[in-house]
Parts: sequence; C-alpha cells; structure tokens
Amino acid sequence: MYESKLDFSQIPSLNRLLQVPAIITLVEIYGRNATTAALRVLLTSAREVIAAHGEVDLSDEMLAQTTAARLARQAVPSLRSVFNLTGTVLHTNLGRAPLAEVAITAMAETARGASNLEFNLETGKRGDRDTHVEEILCDLTGAEAATLVNNNAGAVLLLLNTLALRKEVLVSRGELVEIGGTFRIPDIMARAGAKLIEVGTTNRTHAKDFAAAIGNRTALVMKVHTSNYIVQGFTAEVPAAELATIANAADVPFAVDLGAGALVDLERWGLPHEPTPRETLTAGADIITFSGDKLLGGPQAGLIVGRAELIARLKKNPLKRALRCDKATLAALAATLKLYRDPDRLAERLPTLRLLAREANEIRALAESLLDEVNAAIGEDFVVTVEDCAGQIGSGALPVDSLESVALVIHPVAASGKGGRLKKLATKLRSLPVPVIGRVHDDGLWLDLRCLDDIDGFRTQFQKLDIS
Ligand SMILES: *Cc1c(COP(=O)(O)O)cnc(C)c1O
Repeated sequence: MYESKLDFSQIPSLNRLLQVPAIITLVEIYGRNATTAALRVLLTSAREVIAAHGEVDLSDEMLAQTTAARLARQAVPSLRSVFNLTGTVLHTNLGRAPLAEVAITAMAETARGASNLEFNLETGKRGDRDTHVEEILCDLTGAEAATLVNNNAGAVLLLLNTLALRKEVLVSRGELVEIGGTFRIPDIMARAGAKLIEVGTTNRTHAKDFAAAIGNRTALVMKVHTSNYIVQGFTAEVPAAELATIANAADVPFAVDLGAGALVDLERWGLPHEPTPRETLTAGADIITFSGDKLLGGPQAGLIVGRAELIARLKKNPLKRALRCDKATLAALAATLKLYRDPDRLAERLPTLRLLAREANEIRALAESLLDEVNAAIGEDFVVTVEDCAGQIGSGALPVDSLESVALVIHPVAASGKGGRLKKLATKLRSLPVPVIGRVHDDGLWLDLRCLDDIDGFRTQFQKLDIS
C-alpha cells in the first residue's frame, strides 16, 4: 500500500500543458500530433520517476524544454551527409560513389513528376524501362544487349537463376568470394537454385580441372572477380579467354561477375588496371555483371551486358521484375553513363574518378591550408600534424593497391590514456551537425583529405566543435 502514498497529482494534465505558450510554439513548429505524443512519453516517464523516487521536477519550463529537445531530435533525418575522411573512396558503409552533378539533377527532375519511364513516346504504347540505358551500355561495352537490376548481387542472382536453375555451375575454388554484407557466391548460388561445382584448389586452378568437371548437367561456367582479396605465392588461375574456349566447346555460356566494373582503362589516370567489360567480352565472355556505384561512379545498380539471346532470357524471368531499378536510379545512371562518351573530360565531371585521381601534392596543400585552423579548434589537449598516408579505392576494387594520400592527424598531448581520449574525440567529431568520419590508428585520429570537397563546410564543423 506504499504506492498509494505517492503523489501523482503533481503530474499536469495534457490539456493544460497544451495552453502553455512555449508548448503552443512547439505545436506550431512540429504539429499537434507530434507534440502531444512527445508530451505523453514525458508524462509517462514522470510517473515512473515518481514511483521510484517520490518526486520529479515537473515545472512547465522543464517540460517544454524536454519536449522541445525530443522533437528537435526526431526532426533530424536519420540518413544524412557526412565527411568521408576514412581514406576509402568507395566506402560501402558511407554510401559508395558520390554522384556527378548531372546525375543528381536528372534524379531530382525524374523524382519531381511523371516521366516516360515505361512509355514509348513514339508509339504511345507501353515501353520498357531498360531502354533508357540499353543503347549506351552496348556502345560503351561493345555488348549486343544490356539490362539492369538494383545491384550487382541482384544481377548475379538473376543470372544464375535464369541460366542455371537446377543445373550445375562451375567456379574455381579460388574465386568463391565473400563481399561485405553477406554476399557469398556459394550462398547466392544456393538461393538462385543452382548447384555450385567447385573446381581446382584455393591457390591453383587449371584449364584441365574445368575440362574434367564439365558435363551434361553443366549449365554455366563462371568466373568471379576476386575483388577484395588476392591469392599470392604458388598460384594459377585460368584466364577468361581459356575458360571461354572450354565453355564454348561444351556449348554452355561463360559468365563473369566483374564486381567493380570500371568502364574505361583507369591507367590513363595513373590508377591500377582493372578489367573492363569490353575487354572481358572481347576475351570471350557471353554475359557479364558489374556494379553501378563502384568504379563506374553512378547510383546503386547491377548492370548486365552480353549476348542478346541470354539477356532476353534474363528479362523474361519474373525475378527481373522483383529486382527492377527505380526511376531515379535510371535517370542518374543514364546521366552518368553519358559522361563516358567524352573520356577526355571524365575526370573533371565524374567525382569518383576525380577523387581517385587526386594527386597527393594537391591533398597535402589542402591539409597544410587547414592545419592551423584545426589545431586551434581542437584545444590544448591535442596537437595536429600533416602526414603522408595510404588510402584505398574501396568497395572491393583493387584491394592491395593503395592510394598515396595525405592526412591531418590529431594526436593527444598527454602520454597516458591516449586510446580513451582518441575514442572520445572521434565520438565528438561524429556528433557534429555534419559528422566528420576519420580513422583511429597508431595513437592518432587520421583525417585523410582525399575525399574532402566541401572545404568551407569542413571549416564550419570545426568552428562548431565543443572540445570541453
Ligand atoms: C561488389 C561485388 C558484388 C556485389 O555488388 P553490389 O553492387 O554491392 O550488390 C558482387 N560480386 C563482386 C565480385 C563484387 O565485387
């Protein structure tokens, strides 16, 4: 009976609170429903606090302030922009490729209203959404036909399910990749309803292994680009051209999952070579899949190019409908692909390529220009230096080739408790209005400036940093 002695009458009524001027203002900003819901949550927790401690501050002022804070927190979008200073350009957890301006504009325009997404303007009849990118994909890759789905994982699923349902697919043991986020070749194969036949060994697979494994239940020979690892030492893999010959002799298609899918030779910009769809088709692949938001620098998409007869079969699979791309994706992709028609200006126009090709000297100059300001903002417990570092392309592209870059490195001054201080600082930078994401490594918080574009925005964040 102790409970009954508690004084719940101190809890104000909702109706009275809605007459308090500060709360009327909240209703004007956030609406009656949201404000009432926030007040209810607060009053319920007040009840619990009274039950536990007997009393609680329930002044109008306190209630209005707490409600305002709750409503403001709810109004901040969960998904928002951050500064990617991790040194990984195509960071899957940070949204991969930044889009080109033309792609952003196209995306926004398509989102705003009606479009001819699946409507043929010449005939006035139903159209096919793939047509908006088919021709240019064929031009850029040399393929006979093209189609697309939501992402490359979906593209592989569609390909396997269409061409190898209840049949066997040959893949080298050295290529049974796992890409971050539970994409594993053996698992996707099982979900697609195809039977994986592992060929050769982890480090060495030969043409004769494939020749021995191929049989009348084989539906597909597949090569998977080992995007995020390399097998080193005593190794052997069967080149695409040889696999094509083996598959051809057995009259089964040869498919390649290219992963990163650079559409042009990146060596031109001083980057390591990555096999292109055109090269792979020339080597004899019948059908290829690759991502839209990795080295291609476009929106999330899974692109599929190859022989017309195979693409036609994929397009008839009901899974194609389940995996289809959204109109905004198509608009952004079409605009991005158009940039490839003028490779001479690609590095200026495509942010992914521009960031990847950015010279260490330019990044160093940027770091030096920001050094004093960051040093001043960071307080006396830390000191900032400019250091050379090695960044990564990311998203499983070229895992061992690191990009020469330059970072602002924030070090704690005191010798003790460095780890804890750095962790706290990293948390602070992540809680800025536009979070700054770096990397804690070797007693320092490293801010690799390769991907820093909005320099004024970055300065503003550091001015807002409350180091206390
Ligand atoms: C990245 C990658 C995938 C998955 O592509 P998403 O576009 O992320 O779905 C599949 N295969 C390979 C070889 C990859 O590198």
